Amino acid sequence: MTNELDTPQGFKSGFVALTGRPNVGKSTVMNAFMQQKIAIVTPRPQTTRSRQLGIITEPDYQMIFVDTPGIIREPRHKLDEYMLDSADEILSDVDVVLWLVDSGEAPGPEDEAIAAKLQALDERTRVILGINKLDALPAEQVLSRSEAYRALLPDADWIMFSALTGAGLSELLKMLKNEMPEGPMFYPPEQITDVFLRDIAAEMIREQLMLQLRDEVPYGTAVQVLDFKERPGEPTYISANIFVERDSHKGIIIGSKGAQLRKIGAAARKEIEAMLDEKVFLDLWVKVEPRWRRDENALKRLGYSSN
Ligand code: GDP
Ligand code: MG
Repeated sequence: MTNELDTPQGFKSGFVALTGRPNVGKSTVMNAFMQQKIAIVTPRPQTTRSRQLGIITEPDYQMIFVDTPGIIREPRHKLDEYMLDSADEILSDVDVVLWLVDSGEAPGPEDEAIAAKLQALDERTRVILGINKLDALPAEQVLSRSEAYRALLPDADWIMFSALTGAGLSELLKMLKNEMPEGPMFYPPEQITDVFLRDIAAEMIREQLMLQLRDEVPYGTAVQVLDFKERPGEPTYISANIFVERDSHKGIIIGSKGAQLRKIGAAARKEIEAMLDEKVFLDLWVKVEPRWRRDENALKRLGYSSN
């Protein structure tokens, strides 16, 4: 992995949260921005739960899109709860919020709720109102509809565009880029996405290590998911390394004839299955990596970097 030291002078970078009601076009916008590069991403079904970062790296800037979940009224499972919690966190953490609305519909209570939330954000967080689906809006409604949305958040910059036809998209990208502060390259240029599910799965495995092991052993462990493959008609295949600092810990985790590791795996698998609403085949490996907690590179590799 490259690190921030490779960042060129004057480089700009920042995080953009995509927010808005379901179906306003958040995923479409993200895909449109990623288009020429997305081909090398493992194709995943577009579902609300497969939340991904979309990372655009150009010679002079890096823009990281975070597709925040829309408003979920009733959390259905653990992942929904996680997403609800994280949506608020994301909004207060990013440089720019791109609030998308559907110009085909008049603003509703959900839009008002989002506007109120955005109004309350720190003033350093820029908000851009993106009024989408311009292609489907009758010309005589353009003015009144845009005014109705703009009235919800009068201070925000705004643009009307169509994610589907691409009309206005490059202007939108320009507006976003203008809001990027100077900053480091957070991700290596070849990395274009980041799948949160695998991180959550890793946490769920770690949770079982904490619950089922005693004393100092679990604190010396880290989990790295190596494979996360959704397979139609078959259990999702997940393989992960459990890193430990000592041989003796490896023995404890594996247990007599593998019994302890099977117990950890079975419990973690149940949690992950509940999260995904899907059967899972979980393949766990225990690896000794002495001193990983003190090794900067190992920490980064295991996802514990400070950024
Ligand atoms: P999300 O739930 O906010 O992520 O919305 P999606 O990106 O999944 O889009 C929801 C629906 O709106 C899909 O059927 C898209 O094809 C459609 N859509 C997105 N952008 C546009 C647009 O600019 N014009 C039109 N006509 N449809 C769009
Ligand atoms: Mg979506």
